Amino acid sequence: MMKQYCVGIDVGGTTVKCGLFTTDGSLKDKWEVPTRKEEEGRFILPDVAEALKKKLAETNLSIDELEGIGIGVPGPVEPDGYVHTCVNLGWKGHWPAKELCELMDGKVHCAVGNDANVAALGEMWQGGGKGHDNLLMVTLGTGVGGGLILDGHVVAGVHGAGAEIGHIHVRDGEQETCNCGGHGCLEQVASATGIVREAMRNLKASSEASAMREFGDQLSAKDVCDCAKAGDALAVKTIRTSMRYLGLVLATVSMIADPELYVIGGGVSRAGQYLIDLTKQYYEEYTPLLNKKAEIVLATLGNDAGIYGSARLVLTR
Ligand SMILES: [Zn+2]
Repeated sequence: MMKQYCVGIDVGGTTVKCGLFTTDGSLKDKWEVPTRKEEEGRFILPDVAEALKKKLAETNLSIDELEGIGIGVPGPVEPDGYVHTCVNLGWKGHWPAKELCELMDGKVHCAVGNDANVAALGEMWQGGGKGHDNLLMVTLGTGVGGGLILDGHVVAGVHGAGAEIGHIHVRDGEQETCNCGGHGCLEQVASATGIVREAMRNLKASSEASAMREFGDQLSAKDVCDCAKAGDALAVKTIRTSMRYLGLVLATVSMIADPELYVIGGGVSRAGQYLIDLTKQYYEEYTPLLNKKAEIVLATLGNDAGIYGSARLVLTR
């Protein structure tokens, strides 16, 4: 019989977010632990285990009441749970689930997943994708992340790099180098940083008046979206370009995996329905073959998608 509680841990570059859930999906408690990255991040998992033991004691829960602990990490996770590197954590060669299990005295099942895939699971379980089990979650933040779920299972690929849609090449002739070393990736045009760069280029190439000029080099992706919503021509041009490339990538994914839903999250998605409508417009234009198009919706869990999804990881046994 399934136990009543589970824990989701989302390891980020600055903080580790932790959540205690009931196995039917309600968040009971959440807390954070600072991410200690010194000495190649060797304190991160022990800190998490210590905080968790303290929380269990405080809430009068025994470890035997936990179905498991799931952990999401910011890097590729191989199918056997091995994490070769996590640049943001300083990690080199870890088995996060196995190590956490040992730190919890071997008394509880632990599972590990990549953060983008785990966020997708979270949105599927209790967020914008609830009720669907074929979806792609897109995170538009400083980068562009992706998590693909087919028939309720994460498609992580042989090397854990499955659904890395941020690094699909969309634009020839790009001179700047992407974080991955490539040129012309989706991330370079549709992430928060990408949107700002695109806006700066449009401003530089034109003498047209634009409200975006008032922000100088402090211009943010939110400013660009706000100006676009207010009808500023250069901002509209910028956002259209970014969402056109996103629509193109979603159309490509539809031709390969045919999900029923796209869930759009991350900081940029706070611009809301405006972005969804634009993306939808291009997506539909690029999928003439589909007579039933996938839906495109906003994510609803915000920064909690990671803890929800990590907790969900241990319920898929
Ligand atoms: Zn790239």
